[in-house]
Amino acid sequence: MTLIYTRENKLLVENARNVLRMNGIETVMKNEFSSGAAGDLAPLDTWPELWLVDNTQLAKAQKLIEQIEVQANGDDWRCNQCQELNGSAFEVCWNCGAAAN
Ligand SMILES: [Zn+2]
Repeated sequence: MTLIYTRENKLLVENARNVLRMNGIETVMKNEFSSGAAGDLAPLDTWPELWLVDNTQLAKAQKLIEQIEVQANGDDWRCNQCQELNGSAFEVCWNCGAAAN
């Protein structure tokens, strides 16, 4: 397995995992529940990690991750329904589930 993505924000890692899954790429998430629940592990040392199961899919997975990163650097958008601010990587409001404007 290959580590392909890790971020402090678990929502970003979950989003990446969803995108890869939609493209037929299987991943395993590690440290998913580390924050606060890992006893003596420091939360800063245990960012959620996304591991690629099939190494033959590495090039495809990296390309998708690149696209996610480009999107993540775009503008945030504000939800029409609940006025919550969302990161550009998210296609639905994290707060109420409404689709992006
Ligand atoms: Zn909303």
